[in-house]
Amino acid sequence: EQDVIDYRKSLAIRVSGFDVPKPVKTFEECGFAPQIMAAIKKQGYEKPTSIQCQALPVVLSGRDIIGIAKTGSGKTAAFVLPMIVHIMDQPELQKEEGPIGVICAPTRELAHQIYLEAKKFAKAYGIRVSAVYGGMSKLEQFKELKAGCEIVVATPGRLIDMLKMKALTMLRATYLVLDEADRMFDLGFEPQVRSIVGQIRPDRQTLLFSATMPRKVEKLAREILSDPVRVTVGEVG
Ligand code: ADP
Ligand code: MG
Repeated sequence: EQDVIDYRKSLAIRVSGFDVPKPVKTFEECGFAPQIMAAIKKQGYEKPTSIQCQALPVVLSGRDIIGIAKTGSGKTAAFVLPMIVHIMDQPELQKEEGPIGVICAPTRELAHQIYLEAKKFAKAYGIRVSAVYGGMSKLEQFKELKAGCEIVVATPGRLIDMLKMKALTMLRATYLVLDEADRMFDLGFEPQVRSIVGQIRPDRQTLLFSATMPRKVEKLAREILSDPVRVTVGEVG
């Protein structure tokens, strides 16, 4: 009797780039601190999703990444977990203020979801997360940012407003995530995204996630990422 493999249920994974770190099969292999492991368990995450298996070791190694996978594949944790590690690795004597991790998302709803996810993992470390998007009073947001934070989750337009008002500086920002890059472009945020990227030091780590890679997004990726690993996760059939 022959084994029948149902490819419709499997995910095709393509990875390209130089010296790509080996994927993990478990969260334990990532070397996360006990506080992070506890938060992962609390979330009910037993093992990493396909994109997380590939992306976690890449991002934890400090490399730039292009992650292409559709909604529901677990991209948020793939950038939030290494961001917590990245922040905890920063030397304490840094005198600068402002966020270390900056996440841009196309809509208020998406930014809010990421904000909630980031807070779950940041809490154990006292890492402060600020949400920066429309629908909230600009004055309240200004005050919150002035008080300081380590992570900002933002829609591009409102983040630009806050930067113009000097509510925050990007001097400390070294971890930049562009989530749902294709949708940000569809919504006309390309100029804002480019402006934000231009205000963050070039030696940052940059992560770009997108469900699709239209030519304009591909061009941006070539311009703002250095030596990225590219991970594509797609359903077969
Ligand atoms: P995406 O950004 O790719 O659309 P999300 O990050 O929003 O996906 O995750 C989709 C859902 O999967 C969320 O409800 C999230 O809590 C859940 N999830 C993420 N990672 C895991 C995991 N390793 N195990 C189980 N559920 C997970
Ligand atoms: Mg997402």
